Amino acid sequence: MLCPICNGLEQLTAICPVCSGQTDDCGRLEDFTGPYAPYQPDTYTNYETISPLSQSEQSCGHVVYCPNCVQTFEVLISKW
Ligand SMILES: [Zn+2]
Ligand SMILES: [Zn+2]
Repeated sequence: MLCPICNGLEQLTAICPVCSGQTDDCGRLEDFTGPYAPYQPDTYTNYETISPLSQSEQSCGHVVYCPNCVQTFEVLISKW
């Protein structure tokens, strides 16, 4: 199993669940929560609910940022 986004095989294109606008790729979830996180913790409100899902063997957690809503969202990428 490999993640097509992490391996550069596909572009991460995600739609904001709030405004349906285009979001920016913020990288992997585990990188995002690390010491080099580009955004302050209070900007990602979904954080508590996303971690268990992201541990799945079948999917890879990525983070996208909506400049419209000034919020980040998790997207789960199905591994190949
Ligand atoms: Zn990935
Ligand atoms: Zn939005």
